Amino acid sequence: MSLRLRLTILYSAFTAGILLLFGLLAFFLVSINLSRQVDQNLSQAYNDLVKDFTVGTDGTIIQTVVPQPTLGSSYIYQLWDLHGRIGLSSPSMAMVKKPLDSVGFQSKTSVYRDAYLGSEHLRVLTVPLQAGSRPIGILQVATNMRLVDFARDEMIDIIVFLVGMLIVVAVVVSWVATGRALAPLETITQTALQISQEEDLSKRIPAHGTEKDEVGRLISAFNQTLGRLEHIYISQQRFLADVSHELRTPLTVIKGNVNLMRRMKQVDEESLETIEDEADRLTRLVGNLLLEAQAESGKLPLQFAPVELDTLLLEVFKEMRVLARGRVNIKLTEIDQIVVNGDRDRLKQVLINLVSNAIKYTQPGGDVYLSLGKTGPNARLIVRDTGQGISAEDMPHIFERFYRAEKSRTRSRASGFGLGLSIAAWIVNHHGGRIEVDSAENKGSTFCIYLPILKTVQPSSTD
Ligand code: ADP
Repeated sequence: MSLRLRLTILYSAFTAGILLLFGLLAFFLVSINLSRQVDQNLSQAYNDLVKDFTVGTDGTIIQTVVPQPTLGSSYIYQLWDLHGRIGLSSPSMAMVKKPLDSVGFQSKTSVYRDAYLGSEHLRVLTVPLQAGSRPIGILQVATNMRLVDFARDEMIDIIVFLVGMLIVVAVVVSWVATGRALAPLETITQTALQISQEEDLSKRIPAHGTEKDEVGRLISAFNQTLGRLEHIYISQQRFLADVSHELRTPLTVIKGNVNLMRRMKQVDEESLETIEDEADRLTRLVGNLLLEAQAESGKLPLQFAPVELDTLLLEVFKEMRVLARGRVNIKLTEIDQIVVNGDRDRLKQVLINLVSNAIKYTQPGGDVYLSLGKTGPNARLIVRDTGQGISAEDMPHIFERFYRAEKSRTRSRASGFGLGLSIAAWIVNHHGGRIEVDSAENKGSTFCIYLPILKTVQPSSTD
């Protein structure tokens, strides 16, 4: 059964229950009031009757006055003596020889009861009469209930009609209202189905009315999830394309050189060198990919311990100077003694990535400056070069996986895979720090790493 139908049945049943309850309550209140009114009138009629009775010396009751029109024809009465004979009765009752209410007739006290005379519904007041403490007879005064019954029947009809109408209205209103409220859910379902059938994650559910209601919030959460899924899906596609591209290039070069040697039927030293270079490149790529995958899945283990940043920077400076082979000038401009809490190997990797980029993207004879200082609670490592710089279009993307600026892509195969900065940023972020970059095309780039200081080492006094 659909949710719409279930809600409609629920609302309608609830409304019907409430309406019925009120209807019954109204009916019983009116009914009780009518009965009370009838009983009061009967009592009044009784009083009017008995005041015209006198009791003879033999105990018989004599009616001194003929019944007055005040009683009207709607009241009838019977006066029974102690011997079970009818002493007096209203004119219309001359032919009736049994009590108007035979059950009430047995009662020792006054009693109001409903009774039937043929098919006539009567309300009967039975009063045992006494002279002093001596019982002298029984008086029954009755009135026809036709009007009251008619009023009750009418009322039941009206209540049933009104309740029925209101239930129909409730059913229609709740069907329409739940239909309107649930319509966006149907849209969500259709969109979800379309997405899974067409595998098109770019679809979004159109906004519905206000963002503030539950359905509006559901749509916006669903759209956000779709956006996130689309982003993941696109980057996964791009990642696969990038990886296959990066793997294919060295493999093609290796295969080309092997074919060349086979055709020449001799081992060529230059080809072997190229093959070795490409194999190294592949090894680096696979290593970086592994690192990237570990970082992505949060499984890249970081061994935190106090790290002397100055010692680390010095180490990198020496190693990279050897690597640069005098092609660019690497200079250390400032170095403070600073200790941070971090993973030494990973931090070294960050520095190596930045410095090797600086070397890579700086023309021969250019300069690379390294420095380590303090700024507030942070250590600031700076790697500045006087190289080609980064264009404004490339700048927002350089920390993305596999992103390489146009210039770098068309450069020689010595350029990297576009993974170095994304790995560096991941490592720095997981040390509670950040990387900032400032660059101007053809003027150079400055990469700054900020890391929270664990402690600053004071230089020992020399006196
Ligand atoms: P790659 O291995 O290609 O160097 P990175 O992730 O380290 O990958 O860098 C991404 C891109 O950012 C590079 O392709 C390059 O275009 C640009 N880039 C990084 N460092 C520098 C720099 N010092 N000077 C100029 N461009 C740089």
